[in-house]
Formats: sequence, structure tokens, C-alpha cells
Amino acid sequence: MLAGPRSGRGLVLLFLVVTILPALALVALGVRLLEQERVLAEQRRRENLERAAGHAVMILERELASLRRQLAAGEWDPRQLPADSASLIIRGQSITASPAGRLPYLPAAAPLGEIPESAFAEAESIEFARQDLPGALQLYASLAGARDAGVRAGALLREARVLKKLGRGEAALAANRRLAEIGNIAFSGMPVDLAARRNRCAIFASLNRPMELATEAGRIRDDLLAGRWTLDQASYAHVAGQLGGWLGTTVAPRPEQAALAEAAVWLHGRWITAPPEEFPAGGAHGLPAVLVLWHSDGATVSALLAGATFVQQRLLDKAAAAVRPMRLRVGAKTTPGGMRVQRSAAESGLPWPLAVEPDPSEPLQDPARSRLLQVGFVLLLLLITAGSYLIWRAVSRELAVARLQSDFVAAVSHEFRTPLTTLAHLNDLLAGGGEPASEKRRGYYQAQARATSRLRRLVETLLDFGRMEAGRQPYRFDPLDAGAFARDVCEAFGAEAADRGFRVEFHPCDEDLPVLADAEALERALWNLLDNAAKYSGESRRIAVEASARDGRVRIEVADFGLGIGPEDQSRIFEKFTRGDAAREHGIKGTGIGLAMVRHIARAHGGEVTVSSTKGRGSVFTIVLPRRR
Ligand code: ADP
Repeated sequence: MLAGPRSGRGLVLLFLVVTILPALALVALGVRLLEQERVLAEQRRRENLERAAGHAVMILERELASLRRQLAAGEWDPRQLPADSASLIIRGQSITASPAGRLPYLPAAAPLGEIPESAFAEAESIEFARQDLPGALQLYASLAGARDAGVRAGALLREARVLKKLGRGEAALAANRRLAEIGNIAFSGMPVDLAARRNRCAIFASLNRPMELATEAGRIRDDLLAGRWTLDQASYAHVAGQLGGWLGTTVAPRPEQAALAEAAVWLHGRWITAPPEEFPAGGAHGLPAVLVLWHSDGATVSALLAGATFVQQRLLDKAAAAVRPMRLRVGAKTTPGGMRVQRSAAESGLPWPLAVEPDPSEPLQDPARSRLLQVGFVLLLLLITAGSYLIWRAVSRELAVARLQSDFVAAVSHEFRTPLTTLAHLNDLLAGGGEPASEKRRGYYQAQARATSRLRRLVETLLDFGRMEAGRQPYRFDPLDAGAFARDVCEAFGAEAADRGFRVEFHPCDEDLPVLADAEALERALWNLLDNAAKYSGESRRIAVEASARDGRVRIEVADFGLGIGPEDQSRIFEKFTRGDAAREHGIKGTGIGLAMVRHIARAHGGEVTVSSTKGRGSVFTIVLPRRR
């Protein structure tokens, strides 16, 4: 019935196996479950992304088809195109881009009126063959008044040239200014007004007039970039280079405009050399990408050069709206890491690859589901932990009680053995041969009586304690005066303890101390305290008892001046079978049930027992009882 230390260890081991192993298994299972849940959620997300990407591509195809239809039907208003887009019409040699000025250059220059060179044969022979510059100048000046714009332009060009040769810079500048006012005439493929303005720059440069040079060159640059002249790529590059030289900076169109011009050149070249294919994805020469759509009816090619704004508004926004809450990203660059589904440019029909990514605000897993899992998991763990703790506490308490019980059995056996040995010895003496003197015999019988009464007290104590523990101890409460009662008990105890040298001082109370009490039980409690006071007195032989009343309660205090009790023990000694340090250190015999009984009795009277003690100085045990009214 009693658990020894070995079975105690076995119990601990069993406890560990029964509680910790399942807890560990549960943790492992929970982790697996959460991991599986995560993988499943990821799979679901990828499937959603794939579906969204397919949907986005479908929307884009539909929109592109509708754009092509519009292009074919000619129901196209170029004025509504955003700034990074333009429309292009190629009809034979003529190429028109609209809105005007959006492309800095075109695949071919616009056809302009030419200067009739034959009109200047005579004047040029005077200028070059005869080297008669004033004569030639006169002739050119008269031709400059002609009605035909071509003749006028040719004459002014030559007049300015001769004036320059003659070193008349101011006059040459004036002639060029007049020439700059003539439009729609080309000289060697270059509009004459542009040529005249460039001539003025050259004259300013040769006359070393930097301010005027910068102003004139700056104005030409502004007009050039605003698309005032329709130049081909080579002329444009030549003029831009020259202006850059004069201005000391690079003259370049905005990248979106350059991208449109490049797309136009590409389309024109393709159209002439081979059937059109895809425009290079991602834009040419590091320029922004342009979506090129075209329709040809044999004679005319109508094309749409769509920049990023147009693509965003007309195509991507629609596709993005269709895949919400996923996010559609366009272009080669997407956020690094993370999950996404890509569609190449070939699949999307756009000049860029497409990526569909999960909405970053979307939680990775179904929040309700994973929270439920986590909560269940934590609850289970808590349950197991709490259960384990409770079992552990119960087991350790059982072990402690078992240990105390085994100590108790040893102590009780010892308590029995001493009087029994005495009895056996006396019996031997009395039964032995020879008749002892009657004096001696009386001594033997008295010793026998003492041993027997000790045994009886012990047995009664044990039986009473058993009854108290089981709650079967009957109490009979009668009114009595606690002062007189305590005095009587002290006197009886004093008489018994006097031969051991003890002196019991009793301090009575001035007033009556009426209580309702079971006299037999209360006597046993007080006797126990007095007995302990004597047992744990050490060298001291003084015991003091005081009966008093305070706060409507009656107090009986038993003080000794002996070993005292440490603070740790003070809280434990009222538990059954518990013995304190003093008992162990000084080898004092006892069973550890005395104080437990005192507490039982005090509580049965509606009172309490308390202790206050200092180790090495002594202890005061107080029984507090309700005062009878
Ligand atoms: P027992 O005396 O048989 O051991 P008790 O229940 O009467 O059992 O007392 C419990 C413990 O309390 C004792 O073992 C002892 O250590 C301590 N104790 C009780 N009374 C005193 C006292 N007057 N002085 C010092 N220690 C005491």
C-alpha cells in the first residue's frame, strides 16, 4: 500500500511517458498539419493566379482585336490619343503622322516644292566664271523679287551667299531672315526656312556673336523638337548634331517621342522589305516600349503607335480589373521573390511580358481556417499541460503522504515498543523465581500501571485521530469557564511533569471566560500543547500558560522557552504526520499527529490554533475560541 522511493521513481517515469510523449506527438502532428495547410493554400493560390493570368490574356486579346477592327474601319480619332501615342498613315511615298508634331522625325521627309535651278544659270556664271560678285549680287537681288516662291527662295539663298563672301555679314543676316519667311520649299531636301535659320547661326558664329548664336540656335531647337518640320531620320540627326555643337548640349527628343519615331521607321522599313512581324519587345535601343498595330488595304497602311499610357488605359486597366484582387504587373520587372505567374510577350500579344501576382494584402492562408487550427492546437496543448500539471501535483502529493505515512508507522511502532518492552520485562521479574519484597513488588506494579496507561493513551489517541479524520468524532458541547478549566489542566499536567523538573506557571484572567466546549476534547488539545512544550523545551524547564479574552474571543496561550520553530516549519507543522526540524535534529520521539488533532478540535469549536515562535528562543501556541454570550 505504501509507495517506497523506488516505486516513486517508477511513477515519475510512467508519468513522463503518459503525458510528455503524447504532448510531443501532438506538437509534431500540429506542425505537420499547419505545414500541410500552408502547402495547400499555396497550391490554391497558384491555381488562382494561373486562372487570373489566362483571363487577363483573354481580355487583352479581345481588346487588341477590337482595336484592330477600329483601325480597319478607319473610325479612329488621333486627337484623342495620349501624348505618348500617335497614328501613322503610309500611302505610297507620303507618310503622315498625327497629331502633328508628335514624332520628331519620320521614315521619309515630307515632299516640298523644289527650287528651279535653271533660273539662276546666267547669274551663277557671272558669280563663278567671271568672279563678278557685285554683278551677280545685282542679278540675285532682282530675282529675289520674283512672284514664284521657289525662284525667290533660290535667289535669296544665293544673295546671302555672295553677301557673306563680300564680308557684308549684316546684309547676309537680313537676306537669310527674309529667306526664313518662305515655307514649303526645299533646298537639297532641307526646308529652306530651316536652312536660312541655320545660315544665320553660322554667320553669328563666324562674326563671334555668341549671344545671338545661342538665341537663334535655341529657337531652332525648340521648333525642331516641337515637330515643325517633317524631316527624315538622317536630316534630323544632322540638324540636331549641328545645333548641339552650337548650344554645347545634346539635342534629343523625349524618349517616348523617340520611341514613336523609331516604331514608325521600323514599320515603314518592314512594310517595304518584308511582311510585318512583331515590333521588338521592350522597345528599341533602350527606348520605352511601343505597341504597334496596323491594317493595310493594299494601298494604304494605317497604324497605331501606342505608348505606355494608351496601353495602360485601353488594355491593361481592363485586364487588371478583370483579375482583381490579383495584381497585374507589366514589363520585365516584377517584385523580386514572392509568387507570380508569368506570360511572355508572345502569349500576351503585347510588347512586354505580363505577370500576375497575389494581392499583397491578401493573407497567405485562409485566416479563419488557420486560426481555428492554431486555436485548437493551442487549446489541446494547454489542456495536456494543465492535465499533466494536475496529475503531477496529485502524484507528488500522494508520494509525500506515503512517505509521511511510512515515517508515521515507524514512529508509532517505536512508541508501542517502549512500554511493551517494559511490560515484558516486569512480567519476567514477577513470574521469575523468588518472592520479591512487597516494597519492590509495589514498584513493579506501579511501573506496569504507567506503561499500560501510556499504551492506552497511545491507542486512544490513534483511534480518536482516525475518527476525527473520518469526521466521526462526536463532540458534546457544554458551557464551561475556560480560565478555571485551563488552570485545572495545568495543575494536573504540572503534577505529572514535576518529577521531570518542569514548572508550569498559570496566569489567570480577572474576568470569567465562558465558552461552549467539549471538556474532554479541549483537555486533550491543551494537554497536547503542554506535552509538546515540555518535549521541545531543550534545557529550559519553564512553561507558562495564560488565559485571557480579546476582541470577543477567549485565548489560551501555552508558552515554552525551548527550541523554537523556524518560519518554514511554522506553516507545515499542523499537517498530519508532519514533524519539524526540532524533532528530527534532537531525535525527539513523536508521531506528527498531535498538532493536527489540536487544530481539528479547535476548529470543531469554531476556533483556531496559531503559533508564533523564534528558533532557539521558544514558542507560543494559542487556542482561540469564540466567547459564549
Ligand atoms: P510530534 O510532536 O509527535 O512530532 P506534533 O504534531 O505534536 O507531532 O508536532 C509537530 C511538530 O511541531 C513537531 O515534530 C515539532 O517539530 C514541532 N513542535 C510542536 N510543538 C513544538 C514546540 N513547543 N516547540 C518546538 N517545536 C514544536
